[in-house]
Amino acid sequence: MRAAKLTLTSELMYLKGVGPARAERLAARGLRTIEDLLYYAPFRYEDRTRLTAVRELLAGQTATILVRVLTAGLTRTRKGLYIYDLAAVDASRPGQQGMIRCKWFNAVYLDRSKIFRPGQRVFFYGKAERDPFGAGNLQMIQPQFEILPDDEASQPDSLEVGRVVPIYEAVGKIGTRVLRRLVWTALRLAGDDIPDPLPASVRTKNRLVDCAAALRLTHFPDPHQPIEDVARFRAPAQVRLIFEEFFHLGARLALKRRQAKTKPGIAFAVTEEVREAVKKILPFHPTAAQKRVLKEIVDDMRSPRPMNRLLQGDVGSGKTIVAFQAAILALVNRAQVALMAPTEILATQHYLFVKQLLAPLPFTADLLISGRKPSEKRDLKRRLASGELHLVVGTHALIESGVEFAKLGLVIVDEQHRFGVMERFQLIRKGPSPDVLVMTATPIPRTLALTLYGDLDFSVIDQLPPNRSPIETRRLSEADRPAAFEMIRAKIRQGEQAYVVYPVIEESRQSDLRPAVKMYEHLAANVFPEFRVGLLHGRLASAEKEDVMLRFKRGELQILVSTTVVEVGVDVPNATVMLIEHADRFGLAQLHQLRGRIGRGRKKSLCLLSAGEAPNEIAEERLRTMAETTDGFRIAEIDLKLRGPGEFFGTRQSGIPAFRIGNLLRDQEILEWAKREAAEFIEHPGSPEEMDAYLGVLRNEWPRRYGLAHVA
Ligand code: ADP
Ligand code: MG
Repeated sequence: MRAAKLTLTSELMYLKGVGPARAERLAARGLRTIEDLLYYAPFRYEDRTRLTAVRELLAGQTATILVRVLTAGLTRTRKGLYIYDLAAVDASRPGQQGMIRCKWFNAVYLDRSKIFRPGQRVFFYGKAERDPFGAGNLQMIQPQFEILPDDEASQPDSLEVGRVVPIYEAVGKIGTRVLRRLVWTALRLAGDDIPDPLPASVRTKNRLVDCAAALRLTHFPDPHQPIEDVARFRAPAQVRLIFEEFFHLGARLALKRRQAKTKPGIAFAVTEEVREAVKKILPFHPTAAQKRVLKEIVDDMRSPRPMNRLLQGDVGSGKTIVAFQAAILALVNRAQVALMAPTEILATQHYLFVKQLLAPLPFTADLLISGRKPSEKRDLKRRLASGELHLVVGTHALIESGVEFAKLGLVIVDEQHRFGVMERFQLIRKGPSPDVLVMTATPIPRTLALTLYGDLDFSVIDQLPPNRSPIETRRLSEADRPAAFEMIRAKIRQGEQAYVVYPVIEESRQSDLRPAVKMYEHLAANVFPEFRVGLLHGRLASAEKEDVMLRFKRGELQILVSTTVVEVGVDVPNATVMLIEHADRFGLAQLHQLRGRIGRGRKKSLCLLSAGEAPNEIAEERLRTMAETTDGFRIAEIDLKLRGPGEFFGTRQSGIPAFRIGNLLRDQEILEWAKREAAEFIEHPGSPEEMDAYLGVLRNEWPRRYGLAHVA
């Protein structure tokens, strides 16, 4: 019987080898149609054109071998550890004799599931090492494996042997071998009926392989292609698919930007009055970088189009004052300004600062946080709606319904990475089309920034204010604690101040807070009885938080024991030493943010990272990184490597599309290339028909591939 003709949109259920159960499992991973399956790219390849003979394996070498199982079963060590132990003999070629063992620790499941049987032929992929009990033989610890069906190697079109084999991430119980067979079948049935989603002019200009060939060769690489290129995902077929994925992203961003630019906005006027006002408030000479980004912002604000700008700058680079200068421009133009910050502490601090800045000017400012009295909030909202109140600083409370503006002209979002994309939009909607400035101190690796904030214009403050002495960072063990306390004591005796930071899992849970509270009591009573010690955490009432912060700022408190609520934005330049307890429990970005609380003045600062028992390797790498560098961008790159793009911002923010083949760590240059080409195409398509056709592709493509995450 001839198999029915399948197209890209056919459901996988109709593919030979997929029954209802498999169809359901595949659908749970977002694989519903033939097209979904064809775009399910391998994450790695194995070169089985030249299998390594076991005899020729060297200790330390990572390789694929084909062996026949001799024995397999569970053994128990004297220490009571279960080891699944498999002995096998080379089966890569007739007459091969080499022996090898494979071991899995605590792998009772392998025994229970009876996966391995004597006589089976199995591929193992892993690192060979000397077997301490094996008389000169080698072993592989927990190798990846694939069991060869009995009749396989005799088949002429074997997918498993004698070729470069794609390795897929398993989908539930559906393993790589089954997926390989399904993809193969799908390619055979739909292979010559694959319309190319990329515009022909783009393909020609960039010399891209056509889509059908790209899919086929990405799954089953051309045997003449250098294996190194395939392994790096740089074979032309793979490059084409990565390009395609990023091109869709780039086109969408370009369309969004174009749309934003056609909306009418406010054209603020830079008058003598503005210049005077800015001069009056400036507490210091701006750095060259601050001047440059201010000019970029002001140029946007003067134009009749709405500003959409991301202001990036490492912790302590001085973003706040730049934002307030922009605020003055809006205020003098009789527009209102809203500044949203992620925590009450930060909002309060900004409010106190701006109130002081505005003192010589005829503008009013107020603070909207949930901790304020209902009557105060009511009054504030009334003044905001009537236009009496000119500038409001607040938390999420600002986006609640009932907060209305008479004439909202500028929205500033501080520490944007702490907010979801939606929250930014909710605030923007409160004005007809306000200018928008979002700020983030979390240095974002360039690829992520392009993806996540690709619809924004960028300004970067790449210079710290003058007279900062670098922060020295030391990693401490438990035994160093008394010495650490002495270092803190010495700093405070010189009139400086200290933070002691404690990890807390959830600020709302009493039990999580206990260690921080206990530590505070212990430090205040036993370690530093001669100093004034304060405690700050998220569960304090707003007024209390404000009070503690103010007292620390004024120097009345000398030591602030705190949870990570001080992480963002808190600015007390006289604080020069920070002890971070259990530093191994913090993420890199968080450590960098925390450390950014010190080193804000002329005095030399010291950051002490205390981590007790040997933390795991990744934690150790984080601490090492912190001790090595204070460069936020470098830290962000390492963080991205250690955590992977999905985890980088935590689940809340994310909004990062789940790329299927493109990889933000590996493919930065393809991302930039595709984004450039997409912008170019949107402005100058080959023909109007081509543009129309592509817009159709994009409309289908985006929601199906990336879900709703990126729709905002
Ligand atoms: P961030 O970019 O992390 O938000 P801030 O705006 O809080 O940084 O600024 C960090 C510190 O540097 C603050 O104490 C601020 O007053 C100070 N500062 C900012 N710009 C300058 C400057 N040009 N000269 C001197 N000090 C500055
Ligand atoms: Mg800040």
